[in-house]
Amino acid sequence: MRKPLIAGNWKMNGSAELVEAFGRAFAEASLPAPVEVVILPPFPYLDAARQAFADTPVTLGAQTLNPLHSGARTGEVSGQMLREFGVDYVLAGHSERRQLYRESDEEVYDRVIAAFSVGIRPILCVGETLEERDAGHTEDVVLRQVGYVMARLDPEQRRRMTIAYEPVWAIGTGRTATPQQAQQVMAAIRRYQAGFDRELAGELRLLYGGSMNASNAKELLAQEDIDGGLIGGASLKVDDFIAICQSAG
Ligand code: PEP
Repeated sequence: MRKPLIAGNWKMNGSAELVEAFGRAFAEASLPAPVEVVILPPFPYLDAARQAFADTPVTLGAQTLNPLHSGARTGEVSGQMLREFGVDYVLAGHSERRQLYRESDEEVYDRVIAAFSVGIRPILCVGETLEERDAGHTEDVVLRQVGYVMARLDPEQRRRMTIAYEPVWAIGTGRTATPQQAQQVMAAIRRYQAGFDRELAGELRLLYGGSMNASNAKELLAQEDIDGGLIGGASLKVDDFIAICQSAG
């Protein structure tokens, strides 16, 4: 049985007030028990978020980490430091980092391994651009990104991995993949995983990301291979985000 996960990626947004507003809302809302809820705020808000969410079931995530534990990397934050803050999840390979910071599959893998080494669970983000989709390369691109990392992990790491399929053309654009488009790619990821281990493929948690909101979440989350969502814009709106969490229950 795969536990649904709803993760809110605040990107470089938010404020101390927003953290507090979410803390109050999470304390009052009835979040469905089987759903795991994670908020990934910018680094400076992690400590405030840890305190604000302390009496709620919500856990903390980070948006990236540096693969080194420490050293001369001005501006960077290591997995060890994040673990000290109580971070449970970290994104690796978000398309904004692949595109804007030129993160390669190899660097994404390094971050995944660094996360595992300190006990943080990585969420590997994969997805095709519009050009790649239009050229009929969606599955090739997505399975290459998935395969580069998954083929290098041991079975226990593969078991603890979460994969977020996020078509690049759907992120922050208001243009969501149809439930059928999303399901098709997620099913391909699960079939690929079955090549390593059939049982493990059934356990692999797959999230959809790309303009998911309170209106379209239910239909997307009803798809057979979609076990949750990675939410950007709508995770900054308290009521919308809680509505998405509730539709995953
Ligand atoms: C994201 O940043 O991972 C994302 C899915 O953003 P949005 O929901 O705004 O498309």
